[in-house]
Amino acid sequence: MGKSSLSISEVRDMMLAAAQRIIEAEPILTDADRALGDGDHGVGMERGMTAVKDALGGKDFPSVGKVFVGVGTAMMSSMGGASGAIFGILFRSGGKALGDATEFTAEGLAALLREGTDQVMTKGAKPGDKTMVDALYPAAEKAAEVSGEPITNALSAVAAAAAAGRDASENMIATMGRAKTLGENSLGKPDAGAVSVAIILAAMSDFAAGL
Ligand code: ADP
Ligand code: MG
Repeated sequence: MGKSSLSISEVRDMMLAAAQRIIEAEPILTDADRALGDGDHGVGMERGMTAVKDALGGKDFPSVGKVFVGVGTAMMSSMGGASGAIFGILFRSGGKALGDATEFTAEGLAALLREGTDQVMTKGAKPGDKTMVDALYPAAEKAAEVSGEPITNALSAVAAAAAAGRDASENMIATMGRAKTLGENSLGKPDAGAVSVAIILAAMSDFAAGL
C-alpha cells in the first residue's frame, strides 16, 4: 500500500525532482524537437525548469495548488515559445483547481490534470494532433479512473498512461504546431512536448514512490 497523500513540502520537492529530470533530459528533448520542429524545445525546457528550481527551492507554500501555480508561472515567464505558454496554462490552471488543499491526493491529481488539460485544449489541440495533449489527455483520463487510490499508486498509473500516449504520438500525423507542415513525414517520431510531459510525470511518480 503506497502513501495516501503528499504534504505541501513533499509536493514542492517532487516538482524540484521533476525539474532536475527535465534539465538532465535536455539532449533528448532537443533531438525530439529537431526531428519535427525547430530544435529549441530542450533548451526552452531547461530554462523553464531552472526557473522552477529558483522559484521553489527552499520556499514554503500555503497550499499544494500554489506549488503548481508557482511551477506554471516560472515556466510561462522564462521559456517563451509555444510550450512555455502551454505549460504555464497547464500548471497554473491545474494548480488553481486544487483550491487551498494542504495535502495532495489522487483526487487532487485528477483535478489538476482534468482542469489543466481542458484549459490547454482551449488553445486548439485535441487528442490525435500530435502535441503534448496526446500525453496529457490519457493521463487525465487515467487519473480520474484511479482517483480513489493512494497518491503513489495513482502517480504510477498516470505516468504509465502518459508514456503510452507519448509512444502513440509516434504514429500520428501532426496537425498542430510547427510539425504540421511535415504531413506524413512527421510519422515515426514522438512529439517533443509529449516526451516532456511523460518525463515530468515519471519523475513525479518515482519521487513519490521513494518517500
Ligand atoms: P515552439 O513550437 O514555439 O518551438 P517548443 O519547441 O518549446 O515551442 O514546444 C513545442 C511543443 O509544444 C510541441 O512539441 C507540442 O507538444 C507543444 N505545442 C505546440 N502548440 C501546442 C498547442 N496548441 N497545444 C498543445 N501543445 C502545443
Ligand atoms: Mg520548438
